[in-house]
Amino acid sequence: MECIFCNIVNRKAEAEIIYEDDNVIAFLDIQPINYGHTLVVPKKHYDNFLTVPPEELNNLIKATQFITGAVKRSVKADGFNVISNNGESAGQTVFHFHFHIIPRFNDDFTFKPRFKNYTSDGMKQYADKIRSTLSKYKDVFNG
Ligand code: 5GP
Ligand code: ZN
Repeated sequence: MECIFCNIVNRKAEAEIIYEDDNVIAFLDIQPINYGHTLVVPKKHYDNFLTVPPEELNNLIKATQFITGAVKRSVKADGFNVISNNGESAGQTVFHFHFHIIPRFNDDFTFKPRFKNYTSDGMKQYADKIRSTLSKYKDVFNG
């Protein structure tokens, strides 16, 4: 299937590339939330956060930290969001994993989710569920 980010990596599509190394490419988002909004992308195609191999993720997060500092300084941002959307329900529209670096300015806008409240034992139930899943997978995680 055609992938716009693979096409940018392969220079079949144009982008305003601001950083590139052997594993990672970064370019400006075509529809920025704030000017300077940058996407950091592994050159190899992985669908989402869960399918990026740990070594690749290391490369990607280090590059993201470096690029974030440069973006923040360049646009004189007060802060920034580093986010990744995973799955349609989370707003992912390009299914080639990427981090967004979104420069933020005092009083620019608010992300306003509607917060939930746990019932009295709800928090423990959710924690138990996740702890139990984690313990099933911890051998895989520890290699
Ligand atoms: P997602 O919604 O998957 O988290 O983020 C995809 C991002 O890619 C969006 O913010 C969108 O504006 C950006 N995008 C989509 N197509 C292109 C493109 O052709 N060029 C660039 N530079 N950005 C794109
Ligand atoms: Zn791709």
